[in-house]
Amino acid sequence: MSDASASSTETTRIVIGIDLGTTNSLAAVRAGKTPRVLRDLDADPLTPSMVCLHPDGRTLVGAEAKALRLEHPERTVFSVKRLIGRSASECHSDVVNLPYQVIAGERDLPRIKIGDLELSPEAISAMVLKHIKATAELALGHSVREVVVTVPAWFDDAQRQATKDAAALAGLECLRILNEPTAAALAYGLDGNNDGTVLVYDLGGGTFDVSILRIKDGIFRVLATKGDTHLGGDDFDQLLAQRILNLLPSKKGSEDPYVLQAVLSAAEGLKMRLSEHDEATLELDLGDHGEVQLTVTRAEFEAAIAPLVQRTLDCVKSAARDAGLELSQIDDIVLVGGSTRVPLVRNRLEALTGKPPHTEIDPDQAVALGAAIQADILAGNDKSLLLLDVIPLSLGIETLGGTVQKLILRNSTIPTSVSEEFSTGVDDQTTVELAIYQGERELSKDCRLLGEFKLRGIPPLPAGLPRVLVTFLVDADGVLRVTAREQRTGIEASIQIVPTFGLTRDEVRRMMIESIEHAQDDYIAREEIEARAKAEAMVRGTKKALQIAELPPDQTFAVHKAVKALQKLLDADAEPNALKSASDDLTKVTTTIADDVISAAVTKALKEEQQQ
Ligand code: AMP
Repeated sequence: MSDASASSTETTRIVIGIDLGTTNSLAAVRAGKTPRVLRDLDADPLTPSMVCLHPDGRTLVGAEAKALRLEHPERTVFSVKRLIGRSASECHSDVVNLPYQVIAGERDLPRIKIGDLELSPEAISAMVLKHIKATAELALGHSVREVVVTVPAWFDDAQRQATKDAAALAGLECLRILNEPTAAALAYGLDGNNDGTVLVYDLGGGTFDVSILRIKDGIFRVLATKGDTHLGGDDFDQLLAQRILNLLPSKKGSEDPYVLQAVLSAAEGLKMRLSEHDEATLELDLGDHGEVQLTVTRAEFEAAIAPLVQRTLDCVKSAARDAGLELSQIDDIVLVGGSTRVPLVRNRLEALTGKPPHTEIDPDQAVALGAAIQADILAGNDKSLLLLDVIPLSLGIETLGGTVQKLILRNSTIPTSVSEEFSTGVDDQTTVELAIYQGERELSKDCRLLGEFKLRGIPPLPAGLPRVLVTFLVDADGVLRVTAREQRTGIEASIQIVPTFGLTRDEVRRMMIESIEHAQDDYIAREEIEARAKAEAMVRGTKKALQIAELPPDQTFAVHKAVKALQKLLDADAEPNALKSASDDLTKVTTTIADDVISAAVTKALKEEQQQ
């Protein structure tokens, strides 16, 4: 930490909260009781999440970048939150309409191509974060290093990790990744002291999210999330813009990007005035393209946007169904996002839920203010609150025959850590490959591969003897770390997870639905695979053990007989119950020899190790 920050934090450690949004970002801090947004003098506290790499070599961020959007559309990057932590193929549908170029780089990672430069979404987000950091430092008068950054509740592991990476690139230490709806609920003081159910309705410029949270004993549990990644206030603007364009004397105007931009800005202004007044008038001079004068009543505007608002309400109903709740069971409704200022949105939501939404906090600032509260708690300045979140989809590793052994179950409260012992499937195996999966299904082919790693340096032992302790640790940000250790020999190998890509929200939903639909088939498939794999391993292991162990003839005969019986069933593709019972018979006759074999094999392997 720099000197400036060290001296000013002798009594209070300052950690700031950052709402890193798709359209706009902002920072807030709580020093004392109430959080406040951090702004640069009188400037707008909202920083457009935009970066322009100017042909003259300058990098402009925020409002300055936004101003250059029309002049340099292919060099002005926005909406990178739609790309972060995902593969290029996954975000294909999100990038087709972007004016800048997104290409597939190494490992199918998206790269933003500007001239000869290829940048990751993390690098662009880091530039926005650096700008926010500088603004916060100006406002606070000292340097900032530690932050809490918010993400949508449906962001998966890879998207959270990528957001953390962006913070690190910006020279910030992200103490926690916080769910946006949790932050908004916190801003309203709906915390550990008030158990209840909260609906967070977030309608921004380009995206809509609804989340239902249950708060109990200071734990925030996300019960359901729904939304539309392409629905927001920009669509309201489009409807008004169309009316304005229809009034232009010539169609040519609507083909000119500068005219279109001017019309869209005017439409947005008109929309905002209609949030305050029953009627608003617009006078727009478009030079060669003519002048437009238009008066719109609130009733007309509401009739135009009603179908869009209805789509958000359908999502609300569906989220409540997913959460297993009636709308009447929701205790509090919290509004987030600039478009919740539209009176029709508030009125319709109130009519649907039968409850007035909270409107005391600026909906553009609620998430950042909540993040600032969490930041202050993490800084150790408020001991009264403890914040926890949950894991959206189960995490596990691939085991015998392509089944997934879940170590951390969906809805587990984080941070959490679970360890389980595994072994090798083949004799003299010195490397174990571990594949980490996320999902609710039983077979790996139906789950999502998150990453793979190898544990090397296991001494050569018969299959089933090495004891590999695998530990899954999900930290407070929902980020997963996996470690593996061979227990019997004490050999520990360092491992590395190569993360692949995250899940889209639709995939998370689809996987949940599929896991329920296929539950019974999956269970049967898993039973079959496991019974067979176990029987095969037992036959292999016992044959090997017989070569090492010195047994009396009658015992050798009994073991041979049991092995033969099991092998016969395997050859005949017998059903799982028959395999299980023959495996049990074999276990009975081999138990007495197991200990001898294990100690003999371990001693042999260790000796060989020492001799090398
Ligand atoms: P956000 O993505 O949360 O920053 O929200 C931005 C959206 O909120 C844009 O579509 C704005 O036009 C819209 N917005 C901001 N203020 C108002 C207002 N007073 N009335 C209607 N929409 C607004």
